[in-house]
Amino acid sequence: MKHLSVLGSTGSIGTQTLEIVKQFPDEFKIVGLTANKNSDLLLKQIKEFKPKAVAIMDISKVDDLLNFSSAKVYSGIEGLNRIAAMQEADTVVNALVGSIGIDPTYNAIKNKKNIALANKETLVAAGSVIMEEVKKNNVSMMPIDSEHSAIFQCLNGENIKEVSKITITCSGGPFKNHTMQQLENASVHDALNHPTWNMGNKITIDSATLMNKGFEVIEAHWLYGIDYEKIKIVVHPQSIVHSLVQFDDKSVIAQLGLPDMKIPIQYALTYPKRFQNFSKSLDLAEIKNLEFSEPDFEKFSCLKYAYEAGTVGGTLPAVMNAANEIAVLAFLENKIRFLDIPRLIRKMMEEHNLIKNPDLKDILEIDKKTKEETNKIIEEKLIVES
Ligand code: NDP
Repeated sequence: MKHLSVLGSTGSIGTQTLEIVKQFPDEFKIVGLTANKNSDLLLKQIKEFKPKAVAIMDISKVDDLLNFSSAKVYSGIEGLNRIAAMQEADTVVNALVGSIGIDPTYNAIKNKKNIALANKETLVAAGSVIMEEVKKNNVSMMPIDSEHSAIFQCLNGENIKEVSKITITCSGGPFKNHTMQQLENASVHDALNHPTWNMGNKITIDSATLMNKGFEVIEAHWLYGIDYEKIKIVVHPQSIVHSLVQFDDKSVIAQLGLPDMKIPIQYALTYPKRFQNFSKSLDLAEIKNLEFSEPDFEKFSCLKYAYEAGTVGGTLPAVMNAANEIAVLAFLENKIRFLDIPRLIRKMMEEHNLIKNPDLKDILEIDKKTKEETNKIIEEKLIVES
């Protein structure tokens, strides 16, 4: 039986993880859960899954839990770190959103927990530090992202040195066919209307700017040790082929499935076994068309920034990630326009003084500073259009 702590249990990935746990009560036991503010849902989860301890980020919500919870209750980032490092857990599912996920991932690894990672910001901002700790502590890092789960499955039993290309598929998001003028005026409502995936708000906006795909390129680099020149993106609106790996002999292996996050989440938890999944089966005859095309790097400039940040390395990806996080939040709050997101990212990347080999402390400091500066630019309305 696996003993799991689920960080971000009240979100899209967190709740789907708990649904899987519910289906296999003899295989999984929940020992820790965390939320940001949603104490009502966390309380329901405590009653159902009976964890030993929980954490809520928002300290003002602690009393909502203390009076009714059978579990120990912690709060703030210390609370998240406690749940990430709990003695009773052997595996930590990180379903947090944003760079808040970095420190708990690091702590979980330091405490020899295997990681099932949805929180892509961890690897984008702190890939070198995190992967070094994974090696040092001899723990596993299973991807939850459907594209990286696909790549993992394509690479199973293969020699990574014989990989000539990894192709990450991309739905293209809701604005695939928009002109620049239409992108300029894109509303929050339209940006949240993803054509194939139903996800939390931040990743849905990242999918509309294609920053999400840029993140996935960096994530793939760290997870599989592949050079950026060998990582490509192809637009595939049906989201059926989740990614492909080409080998030196020009043979290509792809992984397919309906766009359902429960499939990669379950695989991350059951690997190397495959349990029954009761979701709908893929029927290619029903899908009929699988289309593929080049992404537009000019229209979706976040893609360019991600390749640049990843290739330069050091603290640049952390800057890109932090600026994006604040810009997305501001867009969701109608404080900035859609194309201000890439403008803010570019500005923060241009102004950054690179640290080539940062440690965790450097990365967390840069993350905080970049977020403060990005917020200041937004508040003072200093975004310059190009
Ligand atoms: P959601 O916004 O749905 O959920 C985020 C979770 O994190 C919630 O439990 C939320 O708590 C908690 N949380 C948010 N902010 C904080 C904070 N500052 N401190 C502590 N906890 C916090 O996100 P998703 O589930 O969509 O995404 C989670 C991660 O997985 C992201 O990195 C995303 O990119 C990645 N991912 C998501 C996919 C998806 O299908 N959703 C697919 C592939 C990757 P509360 O509910 O209280 O706000």
